[in-house]
Amino acid sequence: MSYDVVVAGGSIAGLFCAREVAASGHSVLVIEEDFEIGTPEHCGGLVSTSGLEEIGIIPSGKTFDSQITRAEVSAPGGKKITIDAKKQNVSVINRRELDKQIAHQAQKNGAEIRVKTSLKEIRENKAITTAGEIDFKILVDARGVSALVQKDRTGILQSAQYEIYADWIEKGKVEVFLDAEKYPGFFSWIIPSCGGTGKVGVAGRSINAMQTLERFLDQKGKCSIIRKVFAPIWVNGPIENFVSKNTVTVGDAAGQSKPTTAGGIYSCGIGGIYAGRAISKFLEAKRQDNLGSYQKAWIEKFGKEFERQSFARKMLERLDNKSIDAIFDSLTPEMIADISNNDDFDFHTSAIIKMLGLKGSLKVAQTMFGAEIRKILG
Ligand SMILES: Cc1cc2nc3c(=O)[nH]c(=O)nc-3n(C[C@H](O)[C@H](O)[C@H](O)COP(=O)(O)OP(=O)(O)OC[C@H]3O[C@@H](n4cnc5c(N)ncnc54)[C@H](O)[C@@H]3O)c2cc1C
Repeated sequence: MSYDVVVAGGSIAGLFCAREVAASGHSVLVIEEDFEIGTPEHCGGLVSTSGLEEIGIIPSGKTFDSQITRAEVSAPGGKKITIDAKKQNVSVINRRELDKQIAHQAQKNGAEIRVKTSLKEIRENKAITTAGEIDFKILVDARGVSALVQKDRTGILQSAQYEIYADWIEKGKVEVFLDAEKYPGFFSWIIPSCGGTGKVGVAGRSINAMQTLERFLDQKGKCSIIRKVFAPIWVNGPIENFVSKNTVTVGDAAGQSKPTTAGGIYSCGIGGIYAGRAISKFLEAKRQDNLGSYQKAWIEKFGKEFERQSFARKMLERLDNKSIDAIFDSLTPEMIADISNNDDFDFHTSAIIKMLGLKGSLKVAQTMFGAEIRKILG
């Protein structure tokens, strides 16, 4: 068996990459180790509508779950702020269906997809898989966070997310709960899906995600759990090299999800698309700098924002519950209205800066966070 491109990992990044490579007439095979594309779903499904459009997805009836109108963020002490999210135009999509929709686009362009096939080893131009050896010119590593485990464990947090039925899930409202003791380095969340279902999850540094989520649910009240997912998330930002010889790394495997929230549908999707286009050019012109153009394009789009998100994360990780409560107390209705009206779901460090009151009280912030503050404001 021989293909121009073999993609290991049949989720968003790998499938988008395959879609683009196949569109330019090159042969491409996607291998996915699970039994079904899109399953098990390990995603809340929150994504900006503009992001979806940019990656070429118009959600079908099956893919679209619900529209978000507001986000309620709770401080450890119980104070809540509500951000009007109508302008940010955020949807909840069904990842099981989204991934299948992308797979269909890739297949229509000429890509082949094989499930229950796992990449075991790479030897020069050969992929050793559970279905035998496959020759390639380019190998795309789209294996998600699992590909990073050997490289750097410090960026990996454990998460648990349950899909549930509960009458306390409010239509259109995403809820986020901050608590530096219960969810160090992250938060818990409630995302409404459709028809009375929702996704409730937690993540954090060195926590038992399952136990933490069960405790959270006990406090919320009655619910029926219909699906449980335990998955790692990556918060350390992009890896150093997306391209190494004839291997191109995309999506979560390249650290392309947001350092603040670990959201990756949009930025990993763009990673797959840019990689696919660069690979197509390389296959036509055989110039290594064609492959390098992929990393350049991705960094140009997300580099600055991800750098600022990484600093925001570092600062947030230093806050204790008392400081978080104090920040919430200092937020004014005008600041919240400013975030609602002017901020962007995908490029959101400006909202964090406003919430931390950094622009208004730089002196206080500098005492708290030192010189790093300039990096987030810069
Ligand atoms: C609980 C949770 C909630 C999330 N919520 C959101 C959200 O609301 N919005 C958002 O934008 N992002 C969210 N994310 C992040 C988002 O799911 C990821 O960023 C995105 O799925 C990354 O896509 P990917 O294609 O790079 O990797 P993945 O989706 O992780 O896919 C990797 C694929 O590779 C396959 N694979 C692994 N090893 C091999 C192998 N050896 N051979 C063949 N195949 C292999 C896996 O089976 C998998 O299908 C969430 C993540 C988690 C864990």
